[in-house]
Amino acid sequence: RKGNQYEIFKKVMKGKNDHILILESKLRNAIRESLLEIHYQPKMDVKTELLIGMEALLRWNDEELGHIPPNDFIPFAEECGLINEIGEWVLKTTAIQIKEWEKQFNFNLRVAVNISPLHFKEPNFVARLVEILEETKVKPEHLEIEITEMSMMDYNDDLINKIQEVKELGLTVAIDDFGTGYSSLGYLKEFPVDTLKIDRTFIVNISEGESGIAMVAAIIALAHALKLKVVAEGVETIEEMEILKQYNCEYVQGYYFSKPLNVIDITKKMQSELSE
Ligand code: C2E
Ligand code: CA
Ligand code: CA
Ligand code: CA
Repeated sequence: RKGNQYEIFKKVMKGKNDHILILESKLRNAIRESLLEIHYQPKMDVKTELLIGMEALLRWNDEELGHIPPNDFIPFAEECGLINEIGEWVLKTTAIQIKEWEKQFNFNLRVAVNISPLHFKEPNFVARLVEILEETKVKPEHLEIEITEMSMMDYNDDLINKIQEVKELGLTVAIDDFGTGYSSLGYLKEFPVDTLKIDRTFIVNISEGESGIAMVAAIIALAHALKLKVVAEGVETIEEMEILKQYNCEYVQGYYFSKPLNVIDITKKMQSELSE
């Protein structure tokens, strides 16, 4: 689990201030030298099984430390104040990549970028987003922002207005990890979001039978009642696919279709779909 993994990571690091400093300077360097990489995981339409979009997922491979999972370094970046820089780097790099695809072929997909709640809540978030759109000249309808349900827990009018501003720019907004935040459901109808992503833990429960299926069915029904589209995360089996289809979940993402792919492989995938 995300939380526990990070706790272990912190314990290992605890009392080892040198290590923290090394890690921080490594991460700073990785951002500056563009040693971070973005992989793209396909999102598929449940009915047509066509590619409809993707999610940008950060990868960090350090020369000495090896592969460091985002569940470890993102919370670290949030703590040491590097998360805004990382978020802007991901937004800009993704936008530049989309622009490249727009030039190469008839690109008509949406790419979702994860934004940390801390970053999203920065007063200048929208202004910086506008700058990135202008610098890269990417079409805003090719971008989506994913913010976790956790960020909705202490919501206020500012947060709602900010989501509205992002949408007015032409982006869409998704609620990520839905069902894990223990927040009141009341917030859902207040938020002008487009999509709800059901957390993988609920998809895993499908295989446990009736009660697991009932939960997923209820979440989908709730989302549809609020006119939201649904993405199921972490779909790995045909059984899960069939249940999701039965309950009219629109989109899926998961190893059943594809793991996150590097730029070369995702580009090949898009081109092969286009030529079909
Ligand atoms: P997330 O946003 O919920 O992303 C989905 C995670 O599930 C990804 O892990 C993805 O590789 C994994 N996944 C996808 N399909 C399957 C499946 O079928 N089975 C299983 N077991 N896993 C699947 P990843 O890439 O390790 O990212 C973990 C988390 O790190 C993300 O969870 C997100 O919270 C965070 N993260 C990743 N990239 C970024 C980023 O650029 N910015 C921010 N703020 N957070 C990021
Ligand atoms: Ca996500
Ligand atoms: Ca998620
Ligand atoms: Ca997650």
